[in-house]
Amino acid sequence: MDQIKIRDLRVFAYHGVNPEEKEIGQNFYVDADLYLDLSAAGKSDDLTKTAHYGHVCKLIAREMKVRSYDLIERAAEVIAERILIEFPITKSVRVEVKKPEAPVKLPFGMLSVEVKRGWHTAVIALGSNVGDSEAILVQAEQALAAEEKIRVLRKAKHIVTKPWGFTEQPDFLNGAVLVETLYEPEELLSKMQEIELAAGRTREVHWGPRTLDLDLIFYEDVVMHTERLTLPHPLMQERAFVLDPLCEICPEIMHPVFRQTVWELRERLRASSGKIKAL
Ligand code: ATP
Ligand code: MG
Ligand code: MG
Repeated sequence: MDQIKIRDLRVFAYHGVNPEEKEIGQNFYVDADLYLDLSAAGKSDDLTKTAHYGHVCKLIAREMKVRSYDLIERAAEVIAERILIEFPITKSVRVEVKKPEAPVKLPFGMLSVEVKRGWHTAVIALGSNVGDSEAILVQAEQALAAEEKIRVLRKAKHIVTKPWGFTEQPDFLNGAVLVETLYEPEELLSKMQEIELAAGRTREVHWGPRTLDLDLIFYEDVVMHTERLTLPHPLMQERAFVLDPLCEICPEIMHPVFRQTVWELRERLRASSGKIKAL
């Protein structure tokens, strides 16, 4: 991928664990590599189609000076996050904060901290069968989009589906969104659960009626299984109410375990449920 590189931007700031460092201050030098697609800017000669490196430098200086942190780890983290949010064309970024005057009582060439951060693609399925389900799904999509660390790229249309697993309950309204996020998988799940709670979600009957269910279907091609989170969602391949919305927004995504696309998984599900009906 194309890059914009900034080297050794000098900023006088006040980071450090020692009290003197916060009082007297010292010089820091910051490197940043922004990974982004520069072809549109290259072809058009249009400044709005790139990340303005002057503005990126100003952002770095501002974030270095606005607070004094104990750790340059924190300074690097904040700079990386702000670049990704304020320059949306940036897919990922490497930030290195160097501290050549660090109070180490030994001779050293350079001391620095480097972080690499980026936007991650994820897919979230939505469902509701209690209350005004259309309004609840719309609000949930808006709540996701309102998060600075989540960008909603595509939204599937809402479809009415028959209940699954526990069938003695009203029909569902289902949807799905394709997002990019700066959250790690568990952090994203926590945000989703906050949004469920705000919609009045309770957990009484497993697979029972609910105002809002937000399930994380994919997070990049992460495969994981912890007490809180299984990825990809373990039942997605058996659920038309998940696969149909996904086929609208991301049919090409490859399931990292089955090595089949969303589209192929739906074909497989349709073929197998056809066989069951024929029995
Ligand atoms: P299902 O996950 O089969 O659709 P459900 O959505 O009704 O069932 P919930 O009550 O919403 O289940 O969630 C139960 C638990 O599942 C949550 O507390 C959450 O920690 C866990 N969980 C594990 N993997 C995921 C995932 N990929 N997405 C959402 N929740 C998950
Ligand atoms: Mg669910
Ligand atoms: Mg759930």
